[in-house]
Amino acid sequence: MSYDPSVSHRLPRSAAGTLAQRRKATKKQSLRTAATEVEPAKPARAALCDDGFMNEGASRQRVSSRVGGITESATLAVDAKAKALQAAGRPVIGFGAGEPDFPTPDYIVAAAEAACRNPRYHRYTPTGGLPELREAIAAKTARDSGLDVSAAQVLVTNGGKQALYEAFATLLDPGDEALLPAPYWTTYPESIRLAGGVPVEVVTDETSGYRASVEQLEAALTPRTKLLVFVSPSNPTGAVYPPEEVERIGRWALERGLWVVTDEIYEHLVYGAARFTSMPVAVPELADRCVVVNGVAKTYAMTGWRVGWLIGPPDVVGAATNLQSHATSNVGNVSQVAALAALRGDLSAVEMMRAAFDRRRQAIVRLLRDIPGVTCPEPEGAFYAYPSVKELLGREIRGRRPDSSAELCELALEEAEVAVVPGEAFGTPGYVRMSYALGDDDLAEGVARLHKLFAEAR
Ligand code: PMP
Repeated sequence: MSYDPSVSHRLPRSAAGTLAQRRKATKKQSLRTAATEVEPAKPARAALCDDGFMNEGASRQRVSSRVGGITESATLAVDAKAKALQAAGRPVIGFGAGEPDFPTPDYIVAAAEAACRNPRYHRYTPTGGLPELREAIAAKTARDSGLDVSAAQVLVTNGGKQALYEAFATLLDPGDEALLPAPYWTTYPESIRLAGGVPVEVVTDETSGYRASVEQLEAALTPRTKLLVFVSPSNPTGAVYPPEEVERIGRWALERGLWVVTDEIYEHLVYGAARFTSMPVAVPELADRCVVVNGVAKTYAMTGWRVGWLIGPPDVVGAATNLQSHATSNVGNVSQVAALAALRGDLSAVEMMRAAFDRRRQAIVRLLRDIPGVTCPEPEGAFYAYPSVKELLGREIRGRRPDSSAELCELALEEAEVAVVPGEAFGTPGYVRMSYALGDDDLAEGVARLHKLFAEAR
């Protein structure tokens, strides 16, 4: 399937849509069928009320359509499959994980250890987070991106994921459209739909470095457009928007009266000449219509601690805090203390990890570019490469003829024992995402296995 980057694709729940969507639909359908087969319908008697009428609830579908429409996170699924095969003794090399392979730095773990022993940290915190952590987040934001905010504008969340979910739920009414440049991180469209919104894809490809232009965004605008999702550095492509493009897009959003949800979780992972730019800093007038999402997961190798945050105008942060107060209350107190230690410390551990990622980035790009049929633009941020595998599709490899990147990924797992995530998960079939947050030797061995397999394409 080829995409015209100048065309935007609406993604309503019902769309016949992309291959990925049709696959999801088929999968959902078969799950529903299986559920019906395994669990026989309750006897009609059980559903009758005293007056003999059927209780309406009994005839409704078991899972709500809102939640039933959500698909499993493809990135987590690939990672789980790779780990299960590894546990069964298979020498699988996983490029699926979206997390640093380093342990959390010692001084952060030590702060959490001490907090565990202090009963003060055995209690709830305010929903918005420990006051000292919110202060530290405000200070860190001024230090790292130059955005001045008060602690009252910070809501501490269970990872960046919850921050995104709450931002969309707080900003979107049913039917409101959210512009979503693709390739997108797989959670965005589901989170937008859960909030009642409609994700509107703006498809980019390697010819623009996977960066959306103002012209493309403008073409996708409708009277229902409420917000733009902006992510730089990007998961899954590693694209980083230069400062002038961030500003141009920010000014356009301001002129159009849009909100921007900007995900800055990879801010410290940029390489070469690329520089991170925070949109509300490039366009200060946008700050009143901007929600910044961030967290400690990627910067400090703290994915498992589940600490993220959102920053926004006080009314939006207040509303999101109310939502969280009924959903999950505060983030784990000990995790908040760990995040506080991370943010109060310097960035030397981050710099060490960044240097390692940069080395692996250069290695993976070089090795992938040697594989016939694979085209790999240079990622400038995060820890992902997003090569095109379109030239390999429809060709015979070991007696099979993969027609989609999803099928090619299946083949890679079965024949080369290498786990990579298909582009279908990110709204752009024909590509694969490879995380290079793994050891140098595994990285070289994994790409060598792919090279050997793909070189057989006829
Ligand atoms: N945003 C992006 C772009 C991500 O890649 C991720 C993690 N994969 C997150 C947000 C969420 O991170 P967490 O919930 O672990 O803080």
